[in-house]
Amino acid sequence: MKVLITGGAGYIGSVAVERLLAAGYEAVVFDNLSQGHRAAVHPEATFVLGDLRDKQAIDDLFEAHEIGAVMHFASHTLVGESMQKPFLYLGENLACGTNLLQSMLEHGVQRFVLSSTANLFDAPETVPITESETIRPGSPYGESKYMLERILKWLEKTSGLKYAALRYFNAAGATAERGEDHTPEHHLIPLILQVALGKREKISIFGDDYATPDGTCIRDYIHIADLADAHILALEAIETGSRTYNLGNGRGFSVQQVIETARQITGEKIASDIGPRRPGDPAELIASSRAISNALGWKPKYPDLTQIVQTAWDWHRQHPDGYADD
Ligand code: UDP
Repeated sequence: MKVLITGGAGYIGSVAVERLLAAGYEAVVFDNLSQGHRAAVHPEATFVLGDLRDKQAIDDLFEAHEIGAVMHFASHTLVGESMQKPFLYLGENLACGTNLLQSMLEHGVQRFVLSSTANLFDAPETVPITESETIRPGSPYGESKYMLERILKWLEKTSGLKYAALRYFNAAGATAERGEDHTPEHHLIPLILQVALGKREKISIFGDDYATPDGTCIRDYIHIADLADAHILALEAIETGSRTYNLGNGRGFSVQQVIETARQITGEKIASDIGPRRPGDPAELIASSRAISNALGWKPKYPDLTQIVQTAWDWHRQHPDGYADD
């Protein structure tokens, strides 16, 4: 089966392509390269440069390729940016998602996997967070994904769409050939590794007065290969019913623990200081993956922070300037 991967030149999408190809699927990547990198696209995938704001371009894509299913990663994804520029999220993320859904349904394609977010759960009542947690989007970004999830439910009723939505936290780590390269970089692990590489002076810890054992925020770092495999499992289960799962490592690590792990792995000092809290950061976010594990047998292959940081370090050492293609 041929799978269309929107955002297949991005961090998570490019690894999904890699794993889909390894699992015997064909892959068509649609990406405007605003965040992604041409060099991240697996050479065996078909690459189409295009923009989801352009419905005609999507229609052309479905006419040119016999697509059997869609994995939708292309999106604006920064919580902080969404607070500054809400319409990029509440407008564009929605418009791009609905353009894609409308076009695929018009072309008889009914299988859809949404890359959703754990930013649906601001201030969760129970940690690890299960699917029964009350949904309170933490930002226009989280709201845009939640609105897409609700659109999927309607399209299942009105148009026979079959979907899976996966809500996850901090994608991290790398495969041998694909890793994290954002400009500008906002994410903790690549920032720490840039300090180790001498490309950045220090890492600033955003607050050490949270109600956690060492005072720094706890997050659920999940390896991108594990994430990609979950998307494939979810796709393969769609025939038996639409589904929505939380996805995480099940274990949380503090910012201090991540920095300490990186010091051990890289052998570098990695200077750090304590800065102010970042607005919107909850103290602790950990997902329960029990539902997807029970239903689909998903189990992270890289649950240890050491493995996650080691794979990221291997990639960053080999690609000190990232993909260096733009
Ligand atoms: N963080 C930090 N310093 C940085 C970047 C991130 O202390 O320069 C913290 C951030 O406050 C959060 C964790 O690291 O608690 C992970 O942040 P990231 O931006 O990687 O992912 P997010 O949790 O926002 O999805």
